[in-house]
Order: sequence, then C-alpha cells, then structure tokens
Amino acid sequence: MNSKLAIHGGKPVREHYLPYGRQTINEDDIQAVVNVLNSEYLTTGPIVNKFENEIAKYVGAKYAVAFSNGTAALHGACFAAGISEGDEVITSPITFAASANCILYQGGTPIFADIDPETYNIDPDSIKEKVTDRTKAIIPVHFTGQPAAMDEILKIAREHELIVIEDAAHALGAVYKDKKIGPIGDMTMFSFHPVKHITTGEGGIITTDNEEYYRKLLQFRTHGITRDPMILRDNHQGPWYYEMHFLGFNYRITDIQAALGLSQLSKLDNFIKQRKKYAGMYNEQLKELSAVILPKQMGEAESSWHLFVIRLKLPLLRCNRKELFKAIQAENIGINVHYIPVYTLPYYQKLGYNAGICPKAEKLYEEIITLPLFPGMTEPDVMDVIRSVKKVINFYSL
Ligand SMILES: *Cc1c(COP(=O)(O)O)cnc(C)c1O
Repeated sequence: MNSKLAIHGGKPVREHYLPYGRQTINEDDIQAVVNVLNSEYLTTGPIVNKFENEIAKYVGAKYAVAFSNGTAALHGACFAAGISEGDEVITSPITFAASANCILYQGGTPIFADIDPETYNIDPDSIKEKVTDRTKAIIPVHFTGQPAAMDEILKIAREHELIVIEDAAHALGAVYKDKKIGPIGDMTMFSFHPVKHITTGEGGIITTDNEEYYRKLLQFRTHGITRDPMILRDNHQGPWYYEMHFLGFNYRITDIQAALGLSQLSKLDNFIKQRKKYAGMYNEQLKELSAVILPKQMGEAESSWHLFVIRLKLPLLRCNRKELFKAIQAENIGINVHYIPVYTLPYYQKLGYNAGICPKAEKLYEEIITLPLFPGMTEPDVMDVIRSVKKVINFYSL
C-alpha cells in the first residue's frame, strides 16, 4: 500500500472523485419521462395519482399524497396535524434542518430530544423528559435508514395524545418488526431527492392510514382549494366552482417527476439489495480498525441503508476529525458529515437554542464521517473507499 497520503503529495487511491451518493438513472427512466412530455398532462395528470397509489401499496399504507419535495411534504404533515403557535413538537437534532423547519413553518416550537448513542436515533427516554402539556407531536427520524424505536415512541404518543410524523427520508423500504416503514406512525414522509433511495429530481410524499389527514394534505398541496363536492360548502354554483378553505401552498409534484418516480420504484428492491451488499462489505472489511465504531444494527429493525456512518475513537488517533476527513477526501473519496446538530445552526442559535441541549448528539457530531453508499457504485468503488479509509486511519493510528 502507498504509505504516503494524497494529502501529503502521495498518489491518491482513486484517480476520479467518487461522490457520497447519487442517483441511478437508466434508459427506461428517461423513456418514462419522455413519454409524459409527449402526453396531454405535464402536471395534475393521471401519473401523479398512479405514483401515489404505487407508493402506498409498496409501504402498505392506505393513502399517499405526493409533494414537490420532502420538506413541503413535512410542512403538509405539520399542517394536517394541526400544529400551530404555542405547540411544541419533539424531534431529533441529528437530522437535516427540514425535520425541525417544518415545525417553525406552522408557528410551532421545535424541542430537541437527545439520541441513543448506539443507534444515533432519537432516544425514547429523552422524549419522555421533554414532553410538556404543550407538546402536540413527535417527529422521529429514521437516521441512515435504521428505524427509530417506534413501539416506545408510539407508547409515549398514546399516553400523552401526541401525533407521530415519521421523517423517513432515509427509510424507504426499511422494516420495523416485520412491517415496512410507512403505515406505523400517523403520517410518514419519504423524500425523492437524488441521493435518496429513489428519485423524482425533487419530490416527497406523505403516507397515512388516516382519511382526514389524507384530505387535508390534498387540499394543502393546492392552495387550500378544493372541488370535492363532499367538502364544498356551496355546491350549486356550477361546474367551474371551487372553494378555498384555508391558506395552502402550491406544493404539487409534476407528472414528469411522478413518471420518473414510478420507473424508479420498480427498481427499489434491487437498489436496497445493492446498498445492503455494500454496507456488508464495509462492515466486514473495516471491523479490523480499532479506531472505528461501525454502525450498530438493532435486531428488531432492518435498515434500508441510506447512509453508512462510521464513528471515530479519537483518543486512538493522532489527528482530529477534520484532518482525517481532509485526508480521505484527498484520496478522491466523497465523504460527508451527517449531521450538524440542527439547533447549533446559526439561525437556531439566533432563536435562542443553546449549545449543550443534547450532549450525546453533540459528541456524536464531533466523531462521525459518512462513507459513499449508492446502488450505482461498483464493487471496485467500494474497495477504493475501504482502501482509502484503512490507509488514512492506519497512518494516523497511535
Ligand atoms: C432529504 C431529507 C429531508 C428533506 O427532503 P427534501 O426532499 O430534500 O426536501 C428531510 N429530512 C431528512 C432527514 C432528509 O434526509
């Protein structure tokens, strides 16, 4: 092995940069999009509905409402849950800002519960400590694709009459106690951003078994407007007639996007199989590194492996995370960090969230690195990542 790191002028393990995640698009995906472009409807056509039905069927939920992106879908779920000013909503700090931003959009107050240091998911015991008589909902995040402790979370929710909105942006196809993520909480959000399991360019969806939430989500997605004769207050004006009942948004997804999503969905199981295989290779090949903690999997859940996050035992290394990160990057490996604890972001600091609210999450943040993982990688790509991580960790090991 080349003992001189690329960061010190050595030859990098890879000649070309490998991203941490990216979409897998084939000729049939392209054809599906082209077919819509040649059809009558580019938006508000039949393909959106078909995509929603197929996603609902795949996860085993009664209803699905697709949105222009996952963040808009979370906003819709917070609206349907009735979150408004004065309401507190508990979520994880180890997530993308959108999981908490959606609470703010509705005027609610995000409350951050700490994580379980083994799974990095929200810790039910910490949720219990943060519940007050103002708490309205919980937004657990299935971080990296590993389902959060849903039985415990639902138990707390039932005791305190809280609504559970799952941020399952990482967890399409993940399984919790023999059930796919989707119909477990009150509403579940999936994202179709290009780094996620399947893509529509931008896109997101809420799945639910609750008809009332379903109807609210549909209306919220299109300005709060409805033509549904069941809901209209004045049903006699004529065929052109519609009503706007509340201030919604234009959060619609296009038929162009939905066609891409349908085509991608037919490959989802293979995508997940590929992700599992590569995660298995990482687990097998990196376990010899004593300075690395590999992602722990709980027996009750089956991850869909959106991200592969390694945790460093910094006392065993003569460098910090930043140096290590730069050294692996210099080998042309596109690594990343998921996530900066949300409440430490400058905007949240300005809102008055202090550092130290969730010490386990803050400690985790200092020690993690995300390795590349996506179905379009090849086995040689995975081996390049493994070689680079070993090269750099061994170089810096005490
Ligand atoms: C991607 C993501 C979102 C937001 O989805 P978009 O489709 O990008 O709006 C929300 N939460 C988490 C955890 C995500 O990874």
